[in-house]
Amino acid sequence: MANLPLMITLTTVLIYLLPSCIKSSEIILPKSLNLTLLTDPSAISVASHDFGNITTVIPGGVICPSSPVEISRLLTYASNGERKFQVAARGQGHSLMGQAGVPDGVIINMTCLAGVVVSDDMKYADVAGGTLWVDVLKNTAEKGVSPVSWTDYLHVSVGGTLSNAGIGGEVFRNGPQISNVLELDVITGKGEMLACSPQLNSELFYGVLGGLGQFGIITRARIVLNHAPKRAKWFRMLYSDFTAFTKDQERLISMANDTGVDYLEGQLFMSNGVVDTSFFPQSDQSKIADLVKSHGIIYVLEVAKFYDDPTLPIIGQVVDMLNKTLSYLPGFISMHDVAYFDFLNRVKAEEDKLRSLGLWEVPHPWLNLYVPKSQILNFHNGVVKDILLKQNSTSGLTLLYPSNRNKWDNRMSAMVTDEEDVVYIIGILQSATPQNVQEVESLNDSIIRVCKDSGIKIKQYLMHYTRKEDWVEHFGTKWSDFSKRKDLFDPKKLLSPGQDIF
Ligand code: FAD
Repeated sequence: MANLPLMITLTTVLIYLLPSCIKSSEIILPKSLNLTLLTDPSAISVASHDFGNITTVIPGGVICPSSPVEISRLLTYASNGERKFQVAARGQGHSLMGQAGVPDGVIINMTCLAGVVVSDDMKYADVAGGTLWVDVLKNTAEKGVSPVSWTDYLHVSVGGTLSNAGIGGEVFRNGPQISNVLELDVITGKGEMLACSPQLNSELFYGVLGGLGQFGIITRARIVLNHAPKRAKWFRMLYSDFTAFTKDQERLISMANDTGVDYLEGQLFMSNGVVDTSFFPQSDQSKIADLVKSHGIIYVLEVAKFYDDPTLPIIGQVVDMLNKTLSYLPGFISMHDVAYFDFLNRVKAEEDKLRSLGLWEVPHPWLNLYVPKSQILNFHNGVVKDILLKQNSTSGLTLLYPSNRNKWDNRMSAMVTDEEDVVYIIGILQSATPQNVQEVESLNDSIIRVCKDSGIKIKQYLMHYTRKEDWVEHFGTKWSDFSKRKDLFDPKKLLSPGQDIF
């Protein structure tokens, strides 16, 4: 048997040695605040990193609030007189480039504030800011109701996605998550605790939605609910022709609710990447691999129709519609019938798989873009074919699917391309190694350059700019309102400095 005391001693030494490489600067909070600031190496280490695994931002300490009042006390103190330290709410730290970090300041661990209360009439849920979307789903679905707009991955916090937009395959029908919020409780950079909605403190409400954490900390969101279906018919179809693929996608997102699909996305199988054909029957998998090899790129249209027993007959009509009207490669359609929960939580299985292979905690130089419909073919030719497909190899996933622009509310801070009715959502979600991360980052830079040079009017999502002029360009005509709101709600510029805007 191994020498247990020796192993425990060695483990203890390692635990304290590893994180102690990360040293935080000292913050002293007055006793009267009655707040516990965690400064132990493991708390600091966790709060210094994010999913992107590219940056390290070392905070001075971490607070696990037991109520919103504690956050208000902290911010009132920090904003009073000379600025003492900056503050960042951290949900799950699934940001890519330190956006939830705060150098030498205080991290508020929002997971300490979690919970879901469904209203008596089941029309909405009041959700604490640190709650994971997967827990919102669990708590609402057991009552037969559910939010209507989802990100692909549900182990992210409500406050975190509402600070960005929260986009996925239901956006074309129901809008992003920010379009499905009735009211918020927010603590501003001055420590004020304010309820806000389109009718009450509307400037704050619209500012915070997609506001990158700049105006206040969301402690409660009132989320719209609808009937929770029991199951999903989930389809993937293959195309070798890009125009046929996008034409079918665009037609499906223009269809009415009862005759159309409820969820739509799309992804690319590229000959220089890993092609996961496991959704398709075993007998088709080698044929698909051959198709990818011969065409270079195969386009995968992914849709789902949700149902329960009374609505089952509609499914037959939808399947009929898919079979008769879409021009996917004959025979290359596969369908799975899964529980609604399992469909929405589908990326968790991918996470578990990647974790078991040690491939989850690697650098993620992801690039997320919005591209107007009229320029999607140029994007495909100039970026997908001329840049992505020409890499020696790729690791990760490329998503490409359209959405309806009218589901976004321009009064909110979130930015999306203007001008056209249909906007494409692109996710170039590459994984990297510490050795090649810079190479992938330069590739991302060249994608942006090519778009600019060829007049493709992209907007980035989950972006991280370090130059003020890039932020001004990003927000365009909204920049002036965005900076005015900062002066109004966070004049000392305490909040979410990891976004590098102010
Ligand atoms: P954090 O990274 O902790 O915070 C993000 C920002 O919000 C920070 O600036 C932080 O200070 C601020 N913030 C956090 N909580 C609050 C709060 N309560 N009040 C105010 N500000 C706050 N996004 C999509 O839209 N669609 C997807 O399909 C999607 N898929 C993803 C898949 C994976 C595997 C991963 C890792 C991320 C994905 N994302 C997706 C991105 C994700 O939505 C964002 O990274 C989001 O910020 C993550 O939430 P979080 O709780 O980890 O936020």
